[in-house]
Amino acid sequence: MRRKLAAGNWKMNGTAASLAELAVLGAQLGDDGPDVVICPPAPLLFRAVHAAEDTRIAIGAQDCHMQPKGAFTGDISAQMIADTGAQYVIVGHSERRDTHKERNADINAKTLMAWASGLTAIICVGEELSDHEQNNTLDIIAGQLAGSLPDGAQAHNTVIAYEPIWAIGTGKVPTLEEIIAVHDSIRATLINRLGDETGNAIPLLYGGSVKPDNAETIFKAENVDGALVGGASLKAADFAPIIAALARS
Ligand code: PEP
Repeated sequence: MRRKLAAGNWKMNGTAASLAELAVLGAQLGDDGPDVVICPPAPLLFRAVHAAEDTRIAIGAQDCHMQPKGAFTGDISAQMIADTGAQYVIVGHSERRDTHKERNADINAKTLMAWASGLTAIICVGEELSDHEQNNTLDIIAGQLAGSLPDGAQAHNTVIAYEPIWAIGTGKVPTLEEIIAVHDSIRATLINRLGDETGNAIPLLYGGSVKPDNAETIFKAENVDGALVGGASLKAADFAPIIAALARS
């Protein structure tokens, strides 16, 4: 059985007051169910770890640098993230691939840094609307995966998130058939590259406008093991029903 995971990406939203949502969410989770991780902005990481202490919620960062340390003003290293008590880091989110011009090789290097610091990397891949419209999705995803995922990935330190760029924050969602096709293809690639055991054990998340009212449908796909959720992860009232739908799937 693969582990299920619901990951929330708060992006550049929230202040210390927002951390009250962690206690509210934590109280609704119960003792078992899908793994849950919240990725707040970097200045909140340390406080988020403490705010989530008595809950099942793990904390993650939204990015790390590809070097261990040095003259990189404004950046944070994987080791610094681990030092806060956080356990995950998102790498290669499309917003960073876009605004920070991150390439697959950068994301590969960031993932290696995450692993070296004991973090689980949530590696994001996803196609532009034009690629989707031209039926290039599977090729684009295969290329991103080949470049972004380092050799030696293991199930305990790697999660792949498929996030069609055109679905992020737009309210648009691929059809269930489209989601199934991409996730099945990623699964086949992982098995081919990492072998049956590891390839089958790495969780695959879908991301892009996941909401309480569409989560159940999305989680019907066999190779969707959870979700990476932006807007609907900010409030426990929205995120909890998504986690509950994942638990039922
Ligand atoms: C995301 O930020 O990764 C995301 C999927 O955002 P949203 O759920 O708001 O579309």
